[in-house]
Amino acid sequence: MAVADIKVVTSIKPLALIAKEIAGDKVSVENLLSVKASPHDYPLRVSDIRRLQDADLVLWVGPSLETFLQRPLNNLASNKHLAVYDLPGMNWPEGESHSHASAAGHQHHGHDPHVWLDPRNATIIAEGLAKKLSEIDPASSMFYANNVKKFSIAIKELDQHLMKILTPARGKGFAVYHEGYLHFVEHYDLQQLAYVTFTPERRPGAKHLYELRQQLNNRATCLFIEPYYDMRIATDLAQELNLKVAILDPIGEPEIKTYKQLLEKMAQAFLACLANSSVTGEV
Ligand SMILES: [Zn+2]
Repeated sequence: MAVADIKVVTSIKPLALIAKEIAGDKVSVENLLSVKASPHDYPLRVSDIRRLQDADLVLWVGPSLETFLQRPLNNLASNKHLAVYDLPGMNWPEGESHSHASAAGHQHHGHDPHVWLDPRNATIIAEGLAKKLSEIDPASSMFYANNVKKFSIAIKELDQHLMKILTPARGKGFAVYHEGYLHFVEHYDLQQLAYVTFTPERRPGAKHLYELRQQLNNRATCLFIEPYYDMRIATDLAQELNLKVAILDPIGEPEIKTYKQLLEKMAQAFLACLANSSVTGEV
């Protein structure tokens, strides 16, 4: 096939970053959501639906994250979309608590859907995509397979590097804004004590805020906020409990150009806020 005859549309930037490394110049990779949009509650436009219909393949996480994509994708042929959530071999956080799964109306079902924050899953996603692309474009299957090989070696190195540099951050308690970081936190053995809200489109209730204060007081060092939402509740809480505030960016702001940079920046954010602090997060 001619250069970039094949069109892949990804739902969120982290998937686009992975896809670009596998697809090279054989495939055009377009990302649906702007980096400022939250995948939890995105209002799909008519032009977005047209982009989905024009794609040879839509790569997305799955209905527990981008709920808004479920219906439009059901209208496409089943071989034209790939939900990475369902890929075999995906790693899941073990200590994930399901006790809050009864909070009606939220959009996470089952596991934490932010699967790309575990680098091992990035490799699984790359493999799943390469398989799909090879079905669409069998002539280039060696090219995709080679790119997967290169990617997975680089990711393994990145993973070992992050495992090492995060050492000073271990055992330091913190809270995140929404329950979206377990894939990173558990894989790198960090000490998350609580989240401000389970899913970002819901504001925390008074009871949860009360419990948060109990969980964090004298135990936590940092409260990590996000670039996407109104953070006043979180920053007020941080001030009250004398916590440092720092930003975690799970999607990748414009200056992030590769998957590797996305994860490195996240590790640096944890490290900068948690290392060299005296309060430990023992529960
Ligand atoms: Zn999320």
